[in-house]
Amino acid sequence: MSVEADLVYEVENAAFAGTILGDHLPRDSFLAELDEVINHHALSFMLNGVTGRVMRCDATSAEAYAKGNVISVNVAGASRYVIVHELAHVLHGRTGRQGASHGAHWRAWYVWLTEVLYGGGYGDVLAQDFAVEGGLKVADISFPHVDGPLIEIDGSLVRNE
Ligand SMILES: [Zn+2]
Repeated sequence: MSVEADLVYEVENAAFAGTILGDHLPRDSFLAELDEVINHHALSFMLNGVTGRVMRCDATSAEAYAKGNVISVNVAGASRYVIVHELAHVLHGRTGRQGASHGAHWRAWYVWLTEVLYGGGYGDVLAQDFAVEGGLKVADISFPHVDGPLIEIDGSLVRNE
């Protein structure tokens, strides 16, 4: 893994710890929520054809990954933010894959999707932590207008400082 990717993992993990986005979802819940996201009518114009599945083999090194239009999750599940992280890879890929795979353009997708999907200011938190904690830029690109948050979750929105 690149230094940039490692920094991204560190920042996202710290940014979402103790929040609904940091919650670990068991495999079935993860896939159910992923399903809700990728089939949401508000995102269908850009997520058409994306599917989720469980990794068949041993997947100890990654919680989930996106390749092509498939988001695969470890048999043990993953934190909720991993849904957003992997979707950002899909959309970054579909829109020309500018820059590195965890680079500034990808991070812009990640930040935008976080707010669109879950709201609560989490997109801003993530962008700020990328900049302040990781020294990582978020590209300034314009996104389609989508009224969020699209996914309603009960639970604490308080950060664990
Ligand atoms: Zn990634």
